[in-house]
Amino acid sequence: MTVWDRLVGQAGVIETLQRAVGSDPGSGMSHAWLFTGPPGSGRSNAALAFAAALHCESGGCGECKSCHEVAAGTHPDVQVTRTERLSIGVEEVRDLVRGSALTPIGGRWQILVVEDADRLTESAANALLKAIEEPNARTVWLLCAPTVEDVLPTIRSRTRLVVLSTPSTTEVAAFLVDRDGVDADVATYAARASQGHIGRARALARDPDTRRRRDRVVAIPAGLRDLGACVRAAAELHELAKEEAEAMTSVIDVEERSALDEAYGVVERGRRPREYAPALRDLEKSQKTRAKRRVLDVVDRGLMDLVSVYRDALALQIGSRSELVNADRREDLSVLAQRSSPEEHLRRIDAVFEAREQMLEFNVPPLLALESMMVALRLAA
Ligand SMILES: [Zn+2]
Repeated sequence: MTVWDRLVGQAGVIETLQRAVGSDPGSGMSHAWLFTGPPGSGRSNAALAFAAALHCESGGCGECKSCHEVAAGTHPDVQVTRTERLSIGVEEVRDLVRGSALTPIGGRWQILVVEDADRLTESAANALLKAIEEPNARTVWLLCAPTVEDVLPTIRSRTRLVVLSTPSTTEVAAFLVDRDGVDADVATYAARASQGHIGRARALARDPDTRRRRDRVVAIPAGLRDLGACVRAAAELHELAKEEAEAMTSVIDVEERSALDEAYGVVERGRRPREYAPALRDLEKSQKTRAKRRVLDVVDRGLMDLVSVYRDALALQIGSRSELVNADRREDLSVLAQRSSPEEHLRRIDAVFEAREQMLEFNVPPLLALESMMVALRLAA
């Protein structure tokens, strides 16, 4: 399997990147690229595939040592910056810029991947801009962001743009069947329910618990018949999000903790050096922040699942032929379509986006935002 086989539904992008890989060094290879695409479309996968292909003797075979090293994050000439934090600061970028000036160790290029270029602070972006304006002959910057509007126009104008699109349900389903050996029905369900988000589709396809949690979320709208149900639904959505976030973070939390223990020799010597306690405190603090953010992310995704239900109900009402995201819940959808007008569904979709804004922009506690939202989603008696 080549490095390109990990990209789903991006034939045009692959062609562009392969052409760049095949061109001679020094023949005007762009030194800065910007990969954009909706969440889950695989923009950082595309950047990594490109990085691997640029180093690989056979243009990204996916099998050689170099390809494996890029995939594992251990290639000495590929540095990937990804963050759990909300912003990437200027110090971090200055480190990167220093690294970008180094001569590649084994490979042809010194490649720097910045996964969340939309999170660069203004001064960080300016430091990066300088580096991009005066590139080293063998340095390649690969920046990733949801849209071009998410990066400074000055950076945008100096990068070559690669736009990923949302893969279709058929493409995602085929990927799940081929790559993960998922059963065709489950693959179709997961592809539809994920709305083109590959990571989400894989989680839904492979993990019954993830499917069960999504099922409970999309069952909410048809059950909002009175105030009590609204309050319970808010609590349930919040609980489900905490459960899922916990499932996502617990493994990595434990890994980080044992890495820390090992670094301080806690394991072998069975005693704790003085520096260990503050390091542990820092780790626990950052893990807590990450857990909180994850809960918000998962609640947010739950909200988008709710929106998909109202959109489906609307589609049924107006007789649209578009594919239903929740085709497996036809009964619920007809209940909604019968009991509410299209205007009411539109108003509910607005209410969901408002709750999202409350949580993400104004830091309203999730449960509170969810409660008032559920009341606004209530079905007329
Ligand atoms: Zn290779």
